[in-house]
This record gives sequence, C-alpha cells and structure tokens, in this order.
Amino acid sequence: MRYLISNLPLALGEEKKPLPDTLAALLGGRAADFRDPVLERLSLDARHKGSIRFLATLAFDTDRDIADLPLPKGAQLDTAPRPVAWAVPPVARKPRVVVVGSGPAGTFCALRLLDYGIEPVVLERGAPMSERVRAVAGLWNEAVLDPGANAQFGEGGAGTFSDGKLTTRIGHPAIRFVIETFVKFGADPKVLYLARPHVGTDVIRKCSVLIRKEAEARGARYRFRARLADIRFRDGAVAAAVLDTGEEIACEAIVLAPGHSARDTFEMLHGHGVAMRQKAFAMGVRIEHPQALIDQSQYGPSKGHPSLAPADYKVVCNFGPARAAYSFCMCPGGEVIQCASEPGGVVVNGMSNARRDSGFANSGLVAKVNTADFGSDHLLAGMYFQRKWEQAAFRAAGETYGAPATSVQDFLRGRASGNLPATSFRPFAVPADVGTCLPDFVQEQLRGAIPDFDRKIHGFASRQALLLAIESRTSSPVQMIRGEDGQSVSHRGLYPCGEGAGFAGGITSAAVDGIRVAEWIAQTCGAAPFLP
Ligand code: FAD
Repeated sequence: MRYLISNLPLALGEEKKPLPDTLAALLGGRAADFRDPVLERLSLDARHKGSIRFLATLAFDTDRDIADLPLPKGAQLDTAPRPVAWAVPPVARKPRVVVVGSGPAGTFCALRLLDYGIEPVVLERGAPMSERVRAVAGLWNEAVLDPGANAQFGEGGAGTFSDGKLTTRIGHPAIRFVIETFVKFGADPKVLYLARPHVGTDVIRKCSVLIRKEAEARGARYRFRARLADIRFRDGAVAAAVLDTGEEIACEAIVLAPGHSARDTFEMLHGHGVAMRQKAFAMGVRIEHPQALIDQSQYGPSKGHPSLAPADYKVVCNFGPARAAYSFCMCPGGEVIQCASEPGGVVVNGMSNARRDSGFANSGLVAKVNTADFGSDHLLAGMYFQRKWEQAAFRAAGETYGAPATSVQDFLRGRASGNLPATSFRPFAVPADVGTCLPDFVQEQLRGAIPDFDRKIHGFASRQALLLAIESRTSSPVQMIRGEDGQSVSHRGLYPCGEGAGFAGGITSAAVDGIRVAEWIAQTCGAAPFLP
C-alpha cells in the first residue's frame, strides 16, 4: 500500500537524513520496510523564531499496518493519490494554430498542442535568447533600451529575467506537469517538493532555450522578431495572423499570450472590438534591504543555519475593502532590475540567480489601483495610466533609464534623498523623490503601510532601506473575455491566454493557462476533456 504523511515536523537538518531512516524512527520497524520514499513537499514553519522547523509530506510504500500508529501533533496519514498520466493520443483533425508569445503561457500551450499532434507556429516579437541577453546587458550596463529585446519581450517571455519563483496560489493538477517540465530541462529537482520552488534567471534562461529546441524537434515552428501586428477575421472568425512585415499566416486559431506589456497589441485588439474589460492592478515601488537584515528579522537566533535559504517575507496592510498595500514578488538574494520596454518610460522589478547570493533582498511594495482610479471609461485607460507614471519616473531619473530612488526614511518625510543606501540596481539609481512618480493615493497607502511593515519585519524602515520607482507592470490592465470553450466571446478562433489576457499572474499560472487553452483547442478537434 502507498501512503502519504503530511505536515510531519522535522527539525532543521533532519530534512537531509535518508527518508527510510526518518520513517523508521517515526513509525518503528526497519528502514527497509519503507520502499520508494518520495519527499512530496517541504515547507518552512518560521512562526516561532526560537524553534524554526520544516513541515514535510512524504509518500512511501509499506506492507506494514501503520493505520493506527500515533503521529506527531498536526501530522496526518492518508493513502497516496495516483499520479496523473499525461500522455494523450493525437487528434484526427489538425488545425493550423498560431501561438503569439513565447512566455510560459505560449510555451506550455505549444508543448501541449504538440502532445495532441498539433504543430503550432509560435510568433515572438522579441529576440532569441543570446541576442536578448546582449540587449538586456546594454540596458543594464549602458542605459540603452532596445524596444524589441528587453526584460519584457523576447524568448521565454517576462519571466526569463526573473526570480524564477514557481509558486502559485492556484490549485491545479497541471502545476505538477509544469514543474516537472522545468526539471526535465535543467531546473534543480528540489523544486518538485519545495513549498516555495525557485529556479533563478540563470537556470530559467537555459530551460527556455532547451524547451524551445524540444518543441521545434517535435514540429513547432518558432519565429523571432516576428510581431503580430494585425489579425484577419472572416465572418467573425480568425482567418490569418498578420506580421509587422505584412506577411499573412493563414490559420484557424490564434492563441493570444502576449503578456501584460504588449500595449500595441492591446490597441490592435481593441480596434477590432475584441471583447475586453478594464482590470485593476497594483502600482508602487521596489524596496531593497541588505539580505542579512531580513534574515535576522525572519530567522532570529537560527539565522545562518545551513538548512535555511535566504529569508523571504510577505506583508499586507488593508485600508478598508478597496485599498491595500502589500509586498509583491519578493526576491531574496536578488537584484532590482530595469524592466522598461517602451522608450521614455522607467519600470523596475526584481530577479535573482539560482544561488540567491547577491547579499540584497528586494520586493515590490505596491498599492491596489482600482479601475475607478484610471479616471476614464476607455477600455485601455489602465494601460495609459501605467504609461503616464512610467514616463514620470523616466523624467525623475533625469530622462535616463536609471531609476529614481529615495531612502525609505526620506520617503516617509516626503522629500528627496541626497545620499542613497547601497543598492544592487543597474545601470544606476538617481537620488530623487519617488513621490513625484506615484499617484497621491498610492503614496498615502505606502506611507501608511511602511510603519506597520516595520513592526512585522524589524528594520524594514531602517536607514538601509531604499525605494526605487516605478513598479507598474504587476499584472495586465485589461482582461479579455473568453467563453467556457476558451474562445473570445466576440471572435471565434481567438484564444486569450496567460497574464496579458488577464488569466494568470506568474510563471506557473501562465504556463497552466497555456495548457488549459491547448486542451480547449484539442477538444475542438475531437479530444476528450482531460483537465478541469
Ligand atoms: P509573458 O511572459 O509576458 O510572455 C509574453 C511574450 O509575448 C513576450 O515574450 C513578448 O515578447 C511576446 N509578445 C507580446 N506581444 C507580441 C506580439 N504582438 N507578437 C509576438 N509576440 C508578442 N512570475 C513568477 O511566477 N515568479 C517570479 O519570480 C517572477 N519574477 C518576475 C520578474 C520580472 C523581472 C518580471 C518582469 C516578471 C516576473 N514574474 C514572475 C512574472 C512572470 O514573468 C509573468 O507572470 C509570466 O511571464 C507571464 O507569462 P505569459 O506567457 O502570460 O507572458
């Protein structure tokens, strides 16, 4: 019989012991009584600083009768569920499908279409990886922006220059498939069980290229520097994808997975009357601290224990039902990076390498922006709102792709900084008043929340804390409206997908949405429903 024990407390260091030994110590008998043990999940329980521990979920086979044995408080014994079998038979009818975007949504959509024998064309407006990495280095080292190859656009999508966290709040059977795929193409197998799996930009870049090569070997055709500029519709249904060169690719279905920064694409879709609605997002700054300060606050006396990774945090401060400030996409051991994609605008975000060893900790520190804040009913008003404040940040940085920066203490006093605390940001931080590139209601919420966060994370508002502006691309400013069959409710054959379409927020959820869309397309070709 195969069993699962969840919520099993393990002291720091115990997670490194062979699993059969741990099971024998827990359940009696010999280590050999426990076969095929697998660590399914490992999370850190740091609620009590003096007794930080792990909580583990273990699966194993045994012939022993263990049903009535006592377990530590909170731990639970169940029979292990059967794994999902991912193999599917090819479909009989194979439509021509164009996937727009090579981010996680487009990539995993293409992979799943290939499982059904459908060979898509993948259009990517940005550059392939090596060219993209050079262009991004040009921005970070010399402050020169290439609008076609940057941290938002190019092979692998927005998550390529990222922290590579694979955590997601959605619950879906395809999450396992996504994480297994990253492992198959080079991610550390630990991401299969860590509660907060992290890959790192250095590894995710390699994974993206290997996944694309595998997709190409199986029949997908990737086109880089190939921007979807228009769509031909016939009788309300997709007939062809039109590239910026004027080339037309006849097709029956277009998967729209362009990410949240494809502003010209949103305008083109709006021009065709594609069904969309305004969507709320969040806006603010990136906050950076020395990693040692965060470790001390989160781990207390256990700081420095070899079992502990650089600490992260998550903080929220609610101001009534419609307003809240919170940390977003926290990157332990990471760098703050310039993520602009439009000339004349500055955008910051965070990334890290697999080792998370920069010595800095950064996080988005953002406030909710509701659709009522956009100041217009125009469908794309949220997008124009983002642009307006990104341009203000560009001006505050002296019309450069540096980032305006203020110490937290000066921000709380409403003034520009003269000297700045140390930062990882490249190309350069510009001492300024970040308040000048934030809407008043965002500033107010951040000023209201920081003292509260300082009580939760000791040193959060200390002299070593720096704010860099502007964190504006937290999610899409629109949501495309799709029906239960995944197609746009306004245009047949158009499949909105991933973060830009408003159906995901992060690498894993975008990848899962790509799989979901591939399943919908396969069903139009006769495949049986596979996933919820
Ligand atoms: P994207 O990844 O944005 O991909 C869209 C692709 O479409 C792009 O490559 C773009 O060039 C292409 N495209 C756009 N328009 C067109 C067009 N008209 N024609 C052809 N191609 C087009 N998420 C996490 O879960 N964990 C993290 O640690 C994390 N860190 C991040 C760090 C940074 C710096 C950034 C920017 C994002 C981070 N994210 C993270 C968010 C994550 O990257 C996104 O949620 C995810 O990439 C969205 O996937 P997607 O496929 O929907 O869109």
